[in-house]
Amino acid sequence: MSVKRYIDKVLQSTIESTPGQTEFYQAVEEVLTSLEPLLQAESKYDQYNILERIVIPERQILFRVVWIDDQGKIQTNIGYRVQFNSSIGPYKGGLRFHPSVNLGIIKFLGFEQTFKNSLTGLAIGGAKGGSNFDPKGKSEGEIMRFCQSFMVELSKHIGETKDIPAGDIGVGGREIGYLFGEYKRLTGRFEGALTGKGLNWGGSLARTEATGYGSVYFAENILNKVGDSLKGKVCTVSGAGNVALYTIQKLYDMGALPVTCSDSRGMIYDKNGIDFNALKAIKEIARKDLSEYLNVHAEATYIPVSQYPEGTNAVWSIPCFAAFPSATQNELNLNDIQILYKNGCRLVNEGANMPSTPQAIDFMLAHKMFYGPAKAANAGGVATSQLEMSQNASMQKWSFAEVDSKLRGIMKNIFELSYKTSKEFGDEGNLMLGANIAGFRKVADSMIDQGA
Ligand code: GLU
Repeated sequence: MSVKRYIDKVLQSTIESTPGQTEFYQAVEEVLTSLEPLLQAESKYDQYNILERIVIPERQILFRVVWIDDQGKIQTNIGYRVQFNSSIGPYKGGLRFHPSVNLGIIKFLGFEQTFKNSLTGLAIGGAKGGSNFDPKGKSEGEIMRFCQSFMVELSKHIGETKDIPAGDIGVGGREIGYLFGEYKRLTGRFEGALTGKGLNWGGSLARTEATGYGSVYFAENILNKVGDSLKGKVCTVSGAGNVALYTIQKLYDMGALPVTCSDSRGMIYDKNGIDFNALKAIKEIARKDLSEYLNVHAEATYIPVSQYPEGTNAVWSIPCFAAFPSATQNELNLNDIQILYKNGCRLVNEGANMPSTPQAIDFMLAHKMFYGPAKAANAGGVATSQLEMSQNASMQKWSFAEVDSKLRGIMKNIFELSYKTSKEFGDEGNLMLGANIAGFRKVADSMIDQGA
């Protein structure tokens, strides 16, 4: 069978066996399609049925989460943990609490996580979990009771050498705290079964900043390769969570000017540069609406989502040299990339997971834009989670500078590995191709070794 037919066969059976899991299928199609040159060069993946094996999670757990709201009423949500692949290390990946969460979303995230974790060069397998619980508008007590109930079930499946969850959208330091407290109560053990922990109880310095910082380091590596840098460049950023916030901070460190951010209700454009401290105070500390930014900077522009032009995200209408989608999946489509490109944008670096649609990616590659794909560009978060695990296991505590310098080194290695692999397979500089092949190869070879 030709390589193309083999890939198509597995894609077809994935659609048939996982109907309705659109995002999962999107992620699988991107990876499998870019493996074509590798499969041409190596027959073993076909011979060992690796594609059929790698698209099926090792285990998926779905559970009921029952909790009591402030009115004393019983509420019910669905909890998930998809343990996707443990061929190179224990399952590792975040938890997402958002009303859009369903099995297809958690599976796409777990699949991506498997290759992302492989690219870090560290011994971590891939997983993802979460719930359709919406933390927005919930009281502290409700968040705590939900997390505790969620952990009652999750605790049966995790552990410091088995599966180590962390945060993602809707799960930050506060939620990890409640989850960790309950894990400890249930198991009687104080151990690093979660990452993103508080600094007083086993957390690592620089973990909070790591995804955003790592994303900017990755973009800087891309530009350095062609003798350029982020210095003096206008950048647009979407999102206002942990990834966006620390992307903005690091862009300033690099001498760039980040001019936008957004939340689920609207976006801010501040041509003088986003005020990092104001943004942090509004979103991270007070957990308020982004429109509050106007109370501090009346001269900035706020556009509510209801006024975004049809079929576009207003963040991408702002002229920039580099765009950092750092909010969520499929937030940058073909319309958006055409507008960005027309306005002079030459680099898209993905802080979120799968933020660009396949059509937007095709456009970037066809126009030879610089493109930092998510599984490489945002791997700094999970890599630093592994540094947290290392510190927990060896009972050490590293300084901020130590962790940050390791993070910088890891991002450089990921860039170089992705670049080198793109060259090896005949499309030098196509980092999507390089990252997909390099991430896949290590996982697939380990699966062959282990017969798993
Ligand atoms: N949720 C993050 C990601 O998408 C971090 C996962 C982790 O630290 O385990 O990579």
